This record gives sequence, structure tokens and C-alpha cells, in this order.
Amino acid sequence: MHRDLPPQELLRLASLERENALLRAALERLPQGMCMFDAADRLLLANRRYLELWQLPPELGRPGTPFSAIRAATRGQETAASRERGQDAGTGTRLREWAMDDGRTIEVAVSREADGSCVALHEDVTEQRRAHSHIEHQARHDPLTGLPHRAALVEELQRQLARGARGGEAALLCLDLDRFKPVNDSLGHAAGDEVLRVVAARLRQCVRQSDLVARLGGDEFAVVQAGVDQPVASTALARRIVAALAQPIDIDGHPVHIGSSIGIAVAPFDGADPDRLLRSADLALYRAKEDGRGTFRYFEPEMDARVQARRGLEADLRRALDAGEFELAYQPQVALDGRRVSGVEALLRWRHPARGGVSPADFIPLAEETGLIVPIGRWVLQRACADACAWPADVRVAVNVSAVQLRRGSLLQDVEAALADSGLPPQRLEIEITESAMLHDTQGVIGTLAALRALGVQVAMDDFGTGYSSLSYLRSFPFDRIKIDRSFVADAAHDPEALSIIRAVTGLGRSLRMATTVEGVETAEQLRIVSAEGCSEVQGYLFSKPRPAAEVPGLIERLAGGAPPAEERRA
Ligand code: C2E
Ligand code: MG
Ligand code: MG
Repeated sequence: MHRDLPPQELLRLASLERENALLRAALERLPQGMCMFDAADRLLLANRRYLELWQLPPELGRPGTPFSAIRAATRGQETAASRERGQDAGTGTRLREWAMDDGRTIEVAVSREADGSCVALHEDVTEQRRAHSHIEHQARHDPLTGLPHRAALVEELQRQLARGARGGEAALLCLDLDRFKPVNDSLGHAAGDEVLRVVAARLRQCVRQSDLVARLGGDEFAVVQAGVDQPVASTALARRIVAALAQPIDIDGHPVHIGSSIGIAVAPFDGADPDRLLRSADLALYRAKEDGRGTFRYFEPEMDARVQARRGLEADLRRALDAGEFELAYQPQVALDGRRVSGVEALLRWRHPARGGVSPADFIPLAEETGLIVPIGRWVLQRACADACAWPADVRVAVNVSAVQLRRGSLLQDVEAALADSGLPPQRLEIEITESAMLHDTQGVIGTLAALRALGVQVAMDDFGTGYSSLSYLRSFPFDRIKIDRSFVADAAHDPEALSIIRAVTGLGRSLRMATTVEGVETAEQLRIVSAEGCSEVQGYLFSKPRPAAEVPGLIERLAGGAPPAEERRA
């Protein structure tokens, strides 16, 4: 057939055919299906994989077959979930995903050439898509409870807010378990996990199909209640949830009582974006917990104002130490045998440049929450030890130490440094701790207290009777002193129960060889009563209010030698 051609041309044709054969072999081996159509949409070539993917008979793979014939044969295999995936701006390739009725997903990439012909690559991406949606599900869901995470919640809030813009409402309920931590700590993590699973299941039962339940982390959950009559619907839902979670949860045959608190924000009134809504619901939750737990609260704008005020105070507190706004006031402790000042308690004062004097009751809890109590407490120790060096050698100085300092501060080193820097003998320093300090990590706390005692420092139990009053705390450590809270003295004259507590604690102190100091003695009558009970020392306004350091030597002198305090003289 090529007989008339010159040999060179024959060689060229032979090599073309060889290339063609190689190309066909390569096409047949492609894992993708491939096909080409000319400008009139007639098939130029198609590989076997293409026919397989679309389950086409071999005759439809012949060159010249019109596209319409192929389309007619495949129509009906794909489902409505098929979708256009867009066009690559650079190459002009169009992507389309076909969802087939047998569950397969086929991705097709079509590029059209300048001459009107087109090339298409077809690929079975079923496995890839499945793996991807599994990963996506895992990323968006909590493996323990199967509930969606925060991201899904935020998306749902966005949807509800968008719908709300057209006149609907939705409620966001944030909830927190009341007693999860103790269960987790005492029964172990497996029990904790089981509790969370049961809680998730109960929450799902409380909501309707259209509501979304999410786990925000730890023991925090949230529910988005979609467009219904608010606040009526969310009140009913909150009641249902509180009741459902008040039911005990069975863990290995033990009934565990968890309980929950809920804060509710209603969109769009309490926040126009998901973040604000979450914040509002959180503030309401905070209030629900403050109000005694096991209950729910709606967000109110004044909650926001309170948090703002607290933030302001916190920022000021951070600056106060460097700005030199702290001072110590000192209140004498008077020994009843011989009536002399045996010690002086250091009480922290904050002179705020704008607010004036801020009560320790207002800023100490904030300093504890923020951890600022650690550097502040260090300063108090330094100042008190330095001041005490100017007083008679038989007068102690008592410094209050917070539970937070004991747990995460460097209390022992701070005490050593304050003693070393001031030169105060350790026997003249007394540390006052409250019962709450003994609540957690009791062994660690006792270790620190024992190390302080080993230095020669004395340790007192402050405000005894107000907290958990566990007598075992008194037995677990040999305190030098028990300070009986002033609330008992205030009531002692007319409340026999208060008096009998003073009597019991002084008796206990005597038998455990601990001194007893009664706080808050304001009248001669109170002094008479507590003296009769045999307590060792008293402290209170009757002798002196807390005074600046410079006045302490004068006070010590005035109160020495049994000189009766002002009130007593009047009586
Ligand atoms: P506290 O250690 O029990 O201190 C005794 C409190 O009772 C002081 O209140 C004192 O002014 C007050 N007080 C004393 N005598 C009387 C009285 O006769 N009548 C009445 N009504 N009150 C009396 P203050 O100074 O407001 O301190 C309150 C609490 O703040 C202290 O209770 C203590 O727990 C804490 N605090 C004070 N300074 C420090 C400190 O430097 N560090 C730590 N961590 N806490 C401190
Ligand atoms: Mg105290
Ligand atoms: Mg006290």
C-alpha cells in the first residue's frame, strides 16, 4: 500500500504507527477512563476503563459514535446528588462529580481545545470521598459522645442568625455539669467518660429533631433550639434538661448525682453573631451557678456590666503592686494572761487612685482567681517581716496566706527570703491559713506547713468554724493556734449555740495544746464572756482597729500592763 512512497516517508510512517500503538497501550493502562470528542461531538477515541466506568457496551466505544448516543446509555445511572464542582481558572478544565445510583462517585474533568474538540478524564473517587467524609465527621464530632464540636455549633448559630434576620428567633443554651469533677477525680476517667456518654444521650432525648446538641469540651455542652416561640420554648427545654440530668446516673451499680446549670441567650437580642451569643449564654450560666446550681438563667445586659467592672478591677489590680498602691494595716492580738500585746496581724489595704480604699473582701478573691495573690502575698511577707523588726522582740507578726499561695506559689521560699532579707527571727512570724487551704492536696499542704514549722515559723488556723470545720484538719497538723471566727463572738451574748461553739473550740485547743484566739471582740461584755471561756488571746475593735505600721509601737505600749481598753473604762 505504501509501495509508491519514498523509503524515508515509509520509515516515518512506520515510526508513527509504532508511536500510535504505544500511545494506545498507555491509554489502555491508565487507571482513569479517558475519551476524546471532535468539534461535532463525535467520539475520537475512548479507553476500556471509560467503558467500564460507565458500563457501556463495546460498540459505543467505536470512533464516530455521537456523544448523544453515549449520554442516552448512561442517563438514569446518576442521582440528583451529582454536582458541578467548578472550573479551573488557569487551565479552563471543568470538574463535575457524578453520584451514581449504585453508590459510586465518578469525577470527570473536561477540557475543551481551541479547535472545538474535547478531552475528558473519568475517575472513580468513591473511596477517597468516603475517607474524606469520615475524617471530616471525626474532625467535627467528639469521639466520646458522637456529638458535634464547637465549630458545628457556630455554623448552626450562623444559620439561625441568618434566618433570624428574616424575623425568626433561636435560643442558645450553654450547660455545665455541677458535680462532674469530683466524680472524675474519685471514680476515675472511665466512670467520667460513661457519665458524659449518658449525659449526651439524655440531652438528645430532651431536644427535637431540628435542635442541635454539641459538646464544647470537658463537661460543657450546648443546645441550639431553632426558630420557635421564645422564650417560652427555651424555658420548657431548660426545665426538661435540668430534670433529666438531676436523675442519678448508674455507674457500676452506684447512683451518681451530677446535676446541671444552664445559661440561655436568645438570638438576635442577646448577640448578633455566634461569639457574642456564646458569651452571653456563658455569663448567664455563670449566674446560674452563682445562684446555687441545678437551675437556669437568662442573659441580662447587667451581667455584662458586672463582668466589665470586674475586668477593670482586674487590670487595676495587675498594676497596683508596681504602682505601690498596697499598704499593710496592723491589728494587735492581746494575750489575756497579764493583758499584753503578744502579736500583731498584718492586714492588706489597697489604696486605689480613683476608687479609694478597696476592701480585701473584694480584691483578695480576684487576686486568688488570677494568681496575682502569689506576687502580692510575697510583698506582704516582705513588708510585714521588715516592719516587725522595729517592734519589741516578744511581739509576733501574723501574715494571712491564701490557699492559692500554698498550692501553686513558692510559699516556703518566699517565707525564707522574707526572713533572711529582714533578719526577723522565724519564731516571730506566724502564718494564718484558712480551712479551705486544707481542702485540696491535703498531703502537699501539710508538707509545706511542716517545712515552715521546721524553720521555726508558727502556723495558725484562721476563721475556724466558718468553713468545713473538719476536726480532722486540726488532728492532721499540729497548729500553734486556732482563731475562732468573729461571727461566733458577735452572737455569743444572745445565742447559746454560738457560745457553746466557742467553749468547745477552746476546750479542744487546750487538749490539743493549741492556743485559741477569739476574733472580732468589740465590747467589754464580749471580752468578759470569752475570758470566762478561757481562750488565750483576743483581737478586735475593742482594743484597736487595724492601724498603720508607724502607730504599732505606741499601741503596744498603750495596751501593755493590763491598761483596760476604752470601752471597758466606760463600763
Ligand atoms: P481575717 O484574716 O480573719 O482578718 C480579720 C478581719 O476582721 C479583718 O478584716 C479585720 O479588720 C476584721 N476585724 C478585726 N477586728 C474586728 C472587730 O472587732 N469587728 C469587726 N467587725 N471586724 C474586725 P479585713 O482587714 O477587711 O480583712 C478581711 C480578710 O481579708 C481577712 O480576714 C483575711 O482573710 C483577708 N486578708 C487580709 N489581708 C490579707 C493578706 O495579706 N493576704 C491574704 N491572703 N488575705 C488577707
Ligand atoms: Mg487572719
Ligand atoms: Mg480571721
